[in-house]
Amino acid sequence: HHFAQYQLSEEIVRALSSLGYETPTEVQTEVLPIALEKKDLVVKSQTGSGKTAAYGIPLCELVDWNENKPQALILTPTRELALQVNEDITNIGRYKRIKSTPLFGRSPFHLQKAELKQRTHIVVGTPGRVLDHIERGTISLGRIAYLVIDEADEMLNMGFIEQVQSIIQALPSERVTMLFSATFPEDVAKLSRKYMDNPVEIEI
Ligand code: AMP
Repeated sequence: HHFAQYQLSEEIVRALSSLGYETPTEVQTEVLPIALEKKDLVVKSQTGSGKTAAYGIPLCELVDWNENKPQALILTPTRELALQVNEDITNIGRYKRIKSTPLFGRSPFHLQKAELKQRTHIVVGTPGRVLDHIERGTISLGRIAYLVIDEADEMLNMGFIEQVQSIIQALPSERVTMLFSATFPEDVAKLSRKYMDNPVEIEI
């Protein structure tokens, strides 16, 4: 397998090569073609499998650079993961000039608010702070076409189920949803049944 076999733009292929990503990992091989077709996905995979790029590559490919409002929302359980994902997305989207904005608590709200007023294609955040921005009207959700729920089991373990549901309910219903989780307890399965449309299931 090679990244050149997918329908990826030159800017993305070049970014992957400068990151030293030569061949897709197993989760990327499974996820890429389906995500590029904009189908809902439920993926069972561990951290370290390359799952961030598995959704980061298609998101960077699919977002329209000319659109000012956020087109993709990625939810993560922790601030550390939000920062890591934000960095990975920034690297993958570098030559397409994709702007990713991280949102998490214990960080000045007004700075995030200012950042959200600028062009941003992808928002990566923890549920509490994302919901804060939604409730205070500082994030525009009208153009969100992609939702990623990363480490869904961790997110629910940390008690974020209600926030996650409130966020999903505020998003356009016409969207692609991808859920990643290392384990599938009943509440994660329930979340995917409730908010996803006939998702393709992948287990690594
Ligand atoms: P993740 O599971 O997303 O945390 O990724 C684990 C590590 O693998 C990160 O350091 C990535 O930069 C790296 N990585 C992801 N995809 C590839 C790839 N196709 N080739 C080489 N390294 C990769």
